[in-house]
Amino acid sequence: MVQVITHAARRRRTRQPADRSLRAVRVSAAVLASVYLLSLAAHGLGDDGVLAALAVGGKWLFIVGLTGLLVLRAVTVPEDRAVWLLFAAAVGSYTVGSLGYALTNGGPAPIIRPIWADLAFIAFHPLAAAALFRLLRSRMRRLTSSMWLDAVVTGLTAAAFASAFAIGAYLHTALRNALLVAVYPIADLLLLVFIAGALAVIGRGAGAAWWWLTAGTALFVVTDTVYAYQVAHGTYVIGGLLDVGWGLAFVCYGMAACQAPRPRTSVPLPGVRALVVPGLCAIGALVLLLRGYLEDGDPLAGGLAFTAVVAALARTALTFREVRALADSQHQARTDELTGLPNRRQVFETFRAADARMAAGGTAAVLVMDLDRFKEINDSLGHGVGDALLREVGPRLAGHLRSGDLLARLGGDEFVVLAADMDEDGALALAERLCATLARSFRLAGMALSVEASVGIAIGPRHSRHAEELLQMADLAMYAAKAGRSCAVVYDEERHGSGRYRLEAVAQLRRAITEGELVLHHQPKLSLQTGRVDGVEALVRWQHPERGLLFPDAFIELAESAGLMGPLTRRVLDAALAQRRAWADRGRELTVAVNVSPSNLVDEGFPDEVAGLLARHGVPATALVLEVTESLLMADRERAVRVLSALRETGVGISIDDYGTGYSSLAYLASLPVTELKLDRTFVSAMNDSDRSASIVTSTLQLAHALGLVFVAEGAEDRATVDALAALGCDVVQGYHLSRPLPAEQLERWLQARTATPVA
Ligand code: C2E
Ligand code: CA
Ligand code: CA
Repeated sequence: MVQVITHAARRRRTRQPADRSLRAVRVSAAVLASVYLLSLAAHGLGDDGVLAALAVGGKWLFIVGLTGLLVLRAVTVPEDRAVWLLFAAAVGSYTVGSLGYALTNGGPAPIIRPIWADLAFIAFHPLAAAALFRLLRSRMRRLTSSMWLDAVVTGLTAAAFASAFAIGAYLHTALRNALLVAVYPIADLLLLVFIAGALAVIGRGAGAAWWWLTAGTALFVVTDTVYAYQVAHGTYVIGGLLDVGWGLAFVCYGMAACQAPRPRTSVPLPGVRALVVPGLCAIGALVLLLRGYLEDGDPLAGGLAFTAVVAALARTALTFREVRALADSQHQARTDELTGLPNRRQVFETFRAADARMAAGGTAAVLVMDLDRFKEINDSLGHGVGDALLREVGPRLAGHLRSGDLLARLGGDEFVVLAADMDEDGALALAERLCATLARSFRLAGMALSVEASVGIAIGPRHSRHAEELLQMADLAMYAAKAGRSCAVVYDEERHGSGRYRLEAVAQLRRAITEGELVLHHQPKLSLQTGRVDGVEALVRWQHPERGLLFPDAFIELAESAGLMGPLTRRVLDAALAQRRAWADRGRELTVAVNVSPSNLVDEGFPDEVAGLLARHGVPATALVLEVTESLLMADRERAVRVLSALRETGVGISIDDYGTGYSSLAYLASLPVTELKLDRTFVSAMNDSDRSASIVTSTLQLAHALGLVFVAEGAEDRATVDALAALGCDVVQGYHLSRPLPAEQLERWLQARTATPVA
């Protein structure tokens, strides 16, 4: 709901300025329209001096004012400024023409054309066409060559139409001025057909401005055609009913200027040349038409030619639509809907070019980037925020790429960069820049969010000659980067390996779990109130037969992705409780903390398993603490809460691990059945050097106490930190200053030495 409101608010914000500046335009338009209607009314009411003066004055005020209105629109609304200036020039030019016409001839009979004012009249058309063209350009990012051709065809077709209806109709009347008069409807038709074509390209959502322009131009076509006809037959009367047509056409233009600007629409791609044939048809038809009418030839040729022109017109309209549909579908197929970035499909297309370049001796780097803990942002802040973040990531990253580099979204929160002619150093430097740019906070839904990312890098042709393989390798390296919590890792066959290597590693880990290659190291937790070590955290290690002692970052991720987290945790719990029992039997009552993973907490059978293990080892539930990271609590909330509650009911303690690295609020966490809060070591280790970290430690501690939670600080690496924590009232401290995690017997010796000479 929050996001919905924010979106609406944002929309309002962006709309407001245009609306406000349009207000002046709209008020002026209303005034001008009223002036024009009043002048019409005055004209209709009678011929006496005052009314006639009112009618004429109102008309001039209206047409001169309209030019001003269009200038006002251009000045007050920055969008489409050139469009409205061109329209203002067009209408202004028309006004000058009208003035010239009125000055040349005050009488009711039409004058013999051309006169100088015709130059100003006819200038209206190219200026209006230029304005329409700019308006179309502002709506479409690119016009295809076929659209140009379409424009030519439609122009020719329109000319044929005009000649059929206008030129042919009165050429034989031998009026010397008729040809020039006939130019106007032709030019109007050109404008109208251009607008029709533009509407076909823009499609639905063209906006009211286009429709007003269509109405205005259509009125021009009709009025000018009738005018030409009347002039040819000597029936035109100045100030007659026909003149209203021009006035209303201009009112429509004024209305168009009152409409809010619209954003650009999708990008059409270079399109078909399917219009050559209909174009030639149209030209042929036109030649026939002209010949048929000029020589007063047979009506059959004229009729056929006319039909051909109609067909060409229909074809043109259809092609406009087709080009657009084709362009849209091609564009959509290659871009990601959410971010507008190229998608997987386009990536694979680009890979073919990269392969060719590598075959020719070039190099290429593939960088796969995955945002860290994106799921958490989605889960805790909502998909709206998650989506907004993804949309902002693209432009940020793009700012650090060269023009030829490809940036695409592979899906989810995974992005890829394909950079030609880039070596390992270049790729590593780029990855660092990308990580750094994401670390700068994003403003989303009224809060500042920064994200960390992990990048995997593969370099061709060193790692592979095929971009697609490079992508897989970069992906594997990316997982290594994530596990190692580093920004970027370059692929290494030995360490990250191919699928074969991974399968082998999973088989080895499975064996390690069942054959007892997993061992525990224990790190003491010191209670600051009593000065005693009351508990330990059990941390898993893999005693690998060939590779030696491995730390969790080398295999936890693998266990998680291979579905081995259940067996692993069971194994660790079993060993930790067995150890706890052994210590108890020798008179040491320690609580043991065991880390559990997301997959454990979605397993509804987990609480029973824990209870079973406690019973088997004869360990009271209160001697066990399960450490759960925030991310895990956010992932599948409902189920996690059910499992946690069941665990808590057995009496087991629940600790929130790595607190502060996620995005959840403490208030939410406190509503869960938890007993302990473990502030992440990044804050603790920095608290004596950074005021910010120090104040985070202080405020979290106060909040934890207010919520009745035990406050644990992990990562205390020196005496000063332990002292500072003690002074603040911290309950429990853990860190290298006391001891690194140790095998059980070493820990026992450490504990013995400690009780002999207590230090803190
Ligand atoms: P964690 O739960 O935050 O464990 C604490 C880690 O911080 C341990 O690394 C420990 O050696 C290290 N540490 C302790 N004191 C200090 C200090 O003063 N300074 C610094 N820089 N580090 C300190 P370790 O053992 O490599 O474990 C890493 C992570 O692996 C653990 O983070 C935990 O998330 C995971 N993990 C370890 N054992 C298990 C396990 O049995 N099951 C599961 N699911 N995860 C485990
Ligand atoms: Ca832990
Ligand atoms: Ca931790």
